[in-house]
Amino acid sequence: MIPVTYPFLPPQEKYQEYLNGIWKRNWLTNMGPLSSDLEMKLKKHLNLNHLLFVTNGTVALQMAIKALQLRGEIITTPFSFVATTSSIVWEGCQPVFVDIDKDSLNLDATKIEAAVTENTSAILATHVYGNPCDVEAIQKIADKHNLKVIYDGAHAFGVEVNGKSIFEYGDISICSLHATKLYHSIEGGLVVTKNADLLKKLAYIRNFGISSPDTFVELGINGKNSEFHAAMGLVNLDFIEEIHRKRKELTEAYDAGLANLKAFKPKWNKNATENYAYYSIVLESEALLLKLKERLDAHEIFTRRYFYPSLASALPYIETQALTTTDSLSRRVLCLPLYYDLTLEEVELICRLMLRIQNN
Ligand SMILES: *Cc1c(COP(=O)(O)O)cnc(C)c1O
Repeated sequence: MIPVTYPFLPPQEKYQEYLNGIWKRNWLTNMGPLSSDLEMKLKKHLNLNHLLFVTNGTVALQMAIKALQLRGEIITTPFSFVATTSSIVWEGCQPVFVDIDKDSLNLDATKIEAAVTENTSAILATHVYGNPCDVEAIQKIADKHNLKVIYDGAHAFGVEVNGKSIFEYGDISICSLHATKLYHSIEGGLVVTKNADLLKKLAYIRNFGISSPDTFVELGINGKNSEFHAAMGLVNLDFIEEIHRKRKELTEAYDAGLANLKAFKPKWNKNATENYAYYSIVLESEALLLKLKERLDAHEIFTRRYFYPSLASALPYIETQALTTTDSLSRRVLCLPLYYDLTLEEVELICRLMLRIQNN
């Protein structure tokens, strides 16, 4: 059986070493020493001044919307994980969907301006598969209309654009450290901002709005993460180069093996580095996708329609909206197995099978 994803687990004894420390200190959660150490090491690794380690990527998004005091309409992408949209609705705002770019599958920056109204407060865009949005174009529109920008960088760990971390862009960026993501702390998330005051506010929000034992300065939530999760993040950080190297190798094997497949790969931002978080292809037709998926399933090789369906047509709490490019691409997009423990032989097998299925 080949799953579509398989969480990375480090050697157990490396994790065990951290557990001994936790037992000694008896400090389990609430911004403990391992959480602080993880924040410090991630800042260094990602070359960032400010970030917070939080519960998960979804709470990170909700905290971002709350901290920026967004109201009314938020322009967003229908081609993302459901948390991008549900966070907007959860925070009492209204998602306004704009279609995606047919090459990058990211929010189409050229279509944003037409969707701005007097009720628009922000743009929330996803760096799909870790591929940076057109951050300059988006910022220009935001500046012109006085809008905030949040990036859902759940997939974008380690990506650099124009020589700096992708998380430096926008007012706030978030990342997910969920077990299925490229780099993980089992459950976890990051909130990133360049603005020190905003970071302080986010830190209060993370801890119920508490500023001292008897003072509350913000409407907060429990966005803290535990020492056990921080420990997994710390151990996994030691393997990130190795994880990256392996995923790059597997990606190149797919590229070579699938050259004759009737499909294209989303076009990567030319100013950005790649993190090999996903191997995603857009098939020529949905019929070909369904044939491939069904026959691969029969071989116990599992793929994922990610993202499908369009968020603008799938959510019971939102009025359905047709969007030409999103509807067409989301029906044809397929993510293939990609994870640290996958072997080159398995990738070659998957490629051979896919070509055989396509050709008969
Ligand atoms: C995984 C994911 C999230 C949610 O992150 P969690 O840590 O699972 O809460 C949000 N947006 C995107 C695009 C994701 O892939």
